[in-house]
Amino acid sequence: MSCEPKNYVLIIAEKSKAAKKIAEALAEKPTICKKYSVNYWVVKFKGKVNVIAPAAGHLFNLYGDDSFPVFSMEWKPLWEIDSSAKYTKKYYSLLSFLSKNALEYINACDYDIEGSVIGYMIIKFFGDLKRAKRMKFSALTKHDILNAYANLSSLDYNMINAGIARHKVDWLWGINVSRALMIAVKSVSNKKIVLSAGRVQSPTLIHVVDNEISREQYVPLPFYKINVKIAIGNQTISFSIDRTFDSKETAQEFANKIKKAKAFVKEIKLEEKSLIRPPPFNLGDLQVEAGRYLNYSPYYVERLAEELYLDGLISYPRTNSQKIPPSVDIKEIVSGLEGNFKNLIGILRNITKGEYVVRQGSKDDPAHPAIYPTGNKIQGKIPLQQYKLYELITRRFLASISKDAVIQTQRVIIELKGINQTQEINRQKIKFKGWLILYPYHEIKDEEFLDIKEGEEVKIDSVSIKMDLTKPTVKRYSKVQLLKWMENWKLGTEATRGRIIETLFDRKYLIQKRGVIYPTPLGIVVVEILKDYFKDITSVELTSKMEEKLESIEEGKLTVDEVVKETTAMLSNYLEKYERVKGQIGIKLSKILGLKKYEKCKFCELEAEYNGLCKYHYEASIKLKEAINLWKNRTKLDEKQILKKIYTSNSTGKYVKDVVSQMM
Ligand code: ZN
Repeated sequence: MSCEPKNYVLIIAEKSKAAKKIAEALAEKPTICKKYSVNYWVVKFKGKVNVIAPAAGHLFNLYGDDSFPVFSMEWKPLWEIDSSAKYTKKYYSLLSFLSKNALEYINACDYDIEGSVIGYMIIKFFGDLKRAKRMKFSALTKHDILNAYANLSSLDYNMINAGIARHKVDWLWGINVSRALMIAVKSVSNKKIVLSAGRVQSPTLIHVVDNEISREQYVPLPFYKINVKIAIGNQTISFSIDRTFDSKETAQEFANKIKKAKAFVKEIKLEEKSLIRPPPFNLGDLQVEAGRYLNYSPYYVERLAEELYLDGLISYPRTNSQKIPPSVDIKEIVSGLEGNFKNLIGILRNITKGEYVVRQGSKDDPAHPAIYPTGNKIQGKIPLQQYKLYELITRRFLASISKDAVIQTQRVIIELKGINQTQEINRQKIKFKGWLILYPYHEIKDEEFLDIKEGEEVKIDSVSIKMDLTKPTVKRYSKVQLLKWMENWKLGTEATRGRIIETLFDRKYLIQKRGVIYPTPLGIVVVEILKDYFKDITSVELTSKMEEKLESIEEGKLTVDEVVKETTAMLSNYLEKYERVKGQIGIKLSKILGLKKYEKCKFCELEAEYNGLCKYHYEASIKLKEAINLWKNRTKLDEKQILKKIYTSNSTGKYVKDVVSQMM
């Protein structure tokens, strides 16, 4: 076949690997061509000549001049406006060239919002939208590609509009608020420093900082609990009763009663219940499990999953669905998987006797099913990290089509006669392992039952009182937990969350130590500014409302213009007030960036505002004082002893420890 045919259909793929897979699905041996040093393919299929060429993700992006605030924007070639995207020029040139003589255009980019926009822009600028079609597939397998080619639809304008609106709203927000921060610094220090804010990025940062501060200002309080040891057969079982006491005296009184009381087995309840198998993965669930068991960051998981998809090994990973529709041939996938997972498939057949019923989850996605392995054999070798993720996805899929596990539970209710106190002791045994063999990542307790009968007396071995300290309710986040939080609040999409978290690290607003996220002093100051001067637009509530509006565009209920107008109005309202506060913002930022001198807090990099302390250390000192009074009421300890206990507790926040260290 000629590399420059006349009268052909131009099929636009999102990436090179995808273009190659499409070409190979349409013909055994597609003609490989090259122009501007990019490969493309020519095939004859059902009497038509098809040219399949790749984009490199987005080839166009929004652009506006240097003014501030800036509300007018236009689409420009990415290579022209982003120096890190120069490599996209060759793809741009190739598609521009191939579009000229095409009869028809098919957007075969990934079937999601971004893919819809990528193909749309290329056809809009180089081709003719009136002669354009959309090809929709969820896996790069021959079967799915041929099926998609036979069922082309018109361009999906709701998705395109939703994508365009998201780009515009994010652009307006990001560029204006980021420029507000940078211009403020420049006005004070005359330095150009790159700072960023973002519609989804900023509320996420605020949450991390708020969370961290409340954790670091935590002061634990003392309370008392009673530990009881009982003997059942030759086993000693200890538990603390489910009551706590503020003072040692009341705890002691109650402990004395327990010592005198008789304990009986009031009731034994035996139950059998199913441990339901999990649904197949959506991207969020995959990111959580891969974070937990493989220690991968959410963004890394997304990138590896994309490679697996482009290699034709798994279905499209950027999905929110936990369901697999009947159109997916499970039996065929299972036999395909025998190539790489013979052992697992043997186990699966054993458990299910060859009958596979998917456990469908509750979450759905209009464009794609849950992530599943295609059953294709691995071609050549894939990197180990990628293989591990592939195995996790495969095991999860196999678990979802296997059988529920069955566990038996024994609940022994012990009554302490005369003092109106009961205590439950639980044991569980696994009766049938089912899916747990295929998906062995979760630890499930498998214990012996207690050998005891109802009405039997139980010997109380010992009763003791223990002082314990309260624990903070807020926990620090790992990247995966932060992603989960964003998902719960509907901030961003499957396709953007991982990347947004990484941006906060690139900007040095966050750092990570031993898998845990901490804000930097710069991150804390940026948050103070966003909260003081851009309050509503950075709130979680308003951001998730905007996400709902963007979704409404996808459903055809709102237009791009309506949403863009609303964003513009909201931003201009804030930016009008900006001139008056620019100086204050600039001074604050210049100080933490080291461009302006200031008095530092005794304990940290932040500015001293109260007696040599920053706001947060000062607040911690107030909280500590209140807590010491409570400690004095609840214990017989003197202040020195109390401070030592607080200082050595793992529950105590760092700000509090700093303050204590000065008092000891
Ligand atoms: Zn401080």
